[in-house]
Amino acid sequence: MLIKKYLTLIFLLTGLHSPAQIDTNINVIKYDLEFDLYDSFTKPYPMSYSASNNITFIVNESAGQITLNAEEYSLIIDSVSGSAQSFYHDNDLLKINLDRFYNSGEMLDVKVYFRHKDIFDTAFYAFNGIVYTDSETAGARRWFPCKDIPNDKSMLKLKARVPGDVLFVSTGLLVDSVYKNKSLFYTWETNIPVSTYLIAMAGSNKFKLEVFRWNKLSEPDESIEIRFYSQPGETIHNINNIKEKLPEMLELFSKLYGDYPFEKIAFLTTDKNFPWGGMENQTLVTLCPDCWYEDLIVHELVHHWFGNMISPNSWADIWLNEGFATYNEAIWHEYKNGNKAYRKNIQNEARKYLSNDPGWASYSKEWNDPKPNDGIVFNSAVTYSKNASIIYMLRYVLGDSIFFNCMQAYASHPEFRYGNASTSSFANLCEQISGQDLDWFFSQWLLNPGYPEYDINYRSEKMSNGKWKTDYTINQVQSNKVFYQMPIELRVTFTDGSTEIIKERNSYNFQTYNFEFDKKPEKISFDPNNEIVLKKVK
Ligand SMILES: [Zn+2]
Repeated sequence: MLIKKYLTLIFLLTGLHSPAQIDTNINVIKYDLEFDLYDSFTKPYPMSYSASNNITFIVNESAGQITLNAEEYSLIIDSVSGSAQSFYHDNDLLKINLDRFYNSGEMLDVKVYFRHKDIFDTAFYAFNGIVYTDSETAGARRWFPCKDIPNDKSMLKLKARVPGDVLFVSTGLLVDSVYKNKSLFYTWETNIPVSTYLIAMAGSNKFKLEVFRWNKLSEPDESIEIRFYSQPGETIHNINNIKEKLPEMLELFSKLYGDYPFEKIAFLTTDKNFPWGGMENQTLVTLCPDCWYEDLIVHELVHHWFGNMISPNSWADIWLNEGFATYNEAIWHEYKNGNKAYRKNIQNEARKYLSNDPGWASYSKEWNDPKPNDGIVFNSAVTYSKNASIIYMLRYVLGDSIFFNCMQAYASHPEFRYGNASTSSFANLCEQISGQDLDWFFSQWLLNPGYPEYDINYRSEKMSNGKWKTDYTINQVQSNKVFYQMPIELRVTFTDGSTEIIKERNSYNFQTYNFEFDKKPEKISFDPNNEIVLKKVK
């Protein structure tokens, strides 16, 4: 997702409930959801609805009971059927007793009939005729019972009853819409698995729907559907600009990371209650009102490779989502306006981090929690700006061709594609592709808070042979005790105006380099191109 730049978020529900548990003994194959949302579109727009969820799953080890996540603040469980015999809903967990013991590997279905209360829970939104959902990180369990963890992807069929004039959209493709008794029954279905936090639905009778198609690069005979759900009063110029640029964006990122990996892409305008700039729900991006901005669209589109196709193994790996999406905004700038624009974009991200550093690291094991603290995990300075800057420095360290080979290898890896990846999966793959030890890079930048602060000292003197000798010392003075090793560049400017670039490696603190020059050096600039973008120099 992308944080709205002008909004301070209040996380209403964070901390209200004890941490939820996840049933790792089940592997969900499919959620078959049915919602009756008719009333939520009609004055006074209640948030209450009735629904059912038929869950198909496999048990890993023999079991007579399963556990799903279902927040009591939002959901009332009415009954269960299928292979379910009885249930117990407590502490945000729905425990379902099965009709017998099921053996390891057996597949079964349970159906849960439930209702959503007339309560606002920052996951299900119904205001003045618009309905939408927003689920990252732990919101899905507020609008349907599920195994709410990013690393159990499943297929989805979602059917909803809405008033006859409502345009309704969800994850995947529209397979059916039937009009009956002033109601429309929409059915959307995926042919690619999805994580619960990326499932979404939305509807309104105010949407202006435009549908286009985009031909895939690798299979020009195959095309994907593009859907725009805009609203009256939005800036037409911006929507038209996205209409024009989206095929270019799809082409650029398909060339870099493989063909756009899903069956459709939709962009949809929500309302003023939407807390983010955008949210990358799989095949259904939700946007804040009048937010058809290129950077935001690029960010949410790129999440379809990094976040949606390859989802984080746990919330501790969030930098693989937000760092990559934010970094690729700079790639879009590079594509449009060249390398200088790319650098400028990242330098801006680095500045945002350096002036708003909350003082924690990009990666924290504690975030490996099915219900993490969103306010920390989605801190804009660290999770977006710092992480994008780290990827910029990875490209600097590896060089363009190895860096993009690593990114391509990651995006096309059969183990991660349409599955999940962890921070170490990405780091190990980069080591494998580059043939270099990169543990130092990922450890120093991801596992530690802060950044290096350099104190540079140098002295030149003329030697008896007429040459100039310079002792150049690099000291790191940051308060955290981490030493950041990096390849460094120095630009020597001589008194005659000529310059020379020296490349060295900064491997330990108080490292002194002895240079010899034929002519008098006037000035030596440290990191003149600002490649170590996360730093301060005294
Ligand atoms: Zn994002």
